[in-house]
Amino acid sequence: MEELSAESFVISAGRSRVPGDPLNVPPVLASNFYLPSERIYARGEGTPTIDAFEEIMGGLEGGRALAFSSGMAAVAAVLHRLPVGAVLAVPEDPYHGVKGLAEEGEQQGRWKALRLNIRDTDAWRDAALTADLLWLESPANPLITIADLPAICSAPRKAGTIVAVDSTFATPLVQKPLDLGADIVMHSATKFIGGHSDLMGGVLATRDESLHEELSHRRKLSGGLIGAMEAFLATRGARTLALRIERAQANAMELAQRLHTHPEVVRVRYPGLPDDENHEIAKTFMTGFGPMLSFETTGDGERASRFCEAARLINHATSLGGIESTMERRAVIPGQETIPETLIRFSVGCENVDDLWHDIEQALQASSR
Ligand SMILES: *Cc1c(COP(=O)(O)O)cnc(C)c1O
Repeated sequence: MEELSAESFVISAGRSRVPGDPLNVPPVLASNFYLPSERIYARGEGTPTIDAFEEIMGGLEGGRALAFSSGMAAVAAVLHRLPVGAVLAVPEDPYHGVKGLAEEGEQQGRWKALRLNIRDTDAWRDAALTADLLWLESPANPLITIADLPAICSAPRKAGTIVAVDSTFATPLVQKPLDLGADIVMHSATKFIGGHSDLMGGVLATRDESLHEELSHRRKLSGGLIGAMEAFLATRGARTLALRIERAQANAMELAQRLHTHPEVVRVRYPGLPDDENHEIAKTFMTGFGPMLSFETTGDGERASRFCEAARLINHATSLGGIESTMERRAVIPGQETIPETLIRFSVGCENVDDLWHDIEQALQASSR
């Protein structure tokens, strides 16, 4: 990433700087290109719009990036490169799409999946000696748990074992898994990278040229390329990533502290809180604590649902990573029954922190009856 800070790089990268060219690479709506050329067909070689987005993401992560049509398309490209009979280590409770894909492959006899607690560093280090792929997610959804990425990514491995990190909740501004020894970092660009809840996209970045080639080939065969408009919007969104994360994570810290002392809140999970069980590990390698937190209200699940419905500023919606705050009760999602009944996952946005707090207070009050 040259000598620029991430904050400057994300704004300056992916531009042609050729006199007469537009500052922003436009959405190039093309599948086909004149020959002879290295760029033949978009599914294989992408488009200039996609190149610009990949240049930004690769530079931010310190590797080379490939953009996919969704986060799950990116996950699938990593999982489906495993040979039949491989062993895969996944978190006990990963992002539900990853959970579904791991289960499906297991049922089809494609691979065997080990399910590990994200905080059990020794189990992950052991798995590095036996598994073919370690799939980590940190901070993990929805309990905002932190894996000891430096210890796991640097563990001795069986030859050929790949370590991949779903870094969606952190963004490249908060942690850089490739620097810690991971082979692949994955993002759902649908979330913080795009940042406006208006696109689907995914990213893989790696430093390993042959892995990059292989994943690029996989994307070409499975047709998981990001669309032209999505790449344009993701680039546009990424320009403000540093600003948004700075604001959202400051808001998250403040709200976590206030929620922590509210009598109608039982437990707040945010790695930035000094007494959070993930605080010490997070401090060792993350440059911030991110914009995601979760908390449990007093009362039962119904009350937590009423709380979500009573919000007027915070959006009651499933996804995350937008400039607007969103929150959702996770136990209502099928397959998430192990999640505490009243747990609310909160993607803190960039609104005024006092406005957000007043909304939380009024929704807690309105739902307490
Ligand atoms: C959303 C998400 C995904 C999947 O990404 P899509 O863009 O929805 O396909 C994977 N991991 C995490 C942590 C996510 O939040």
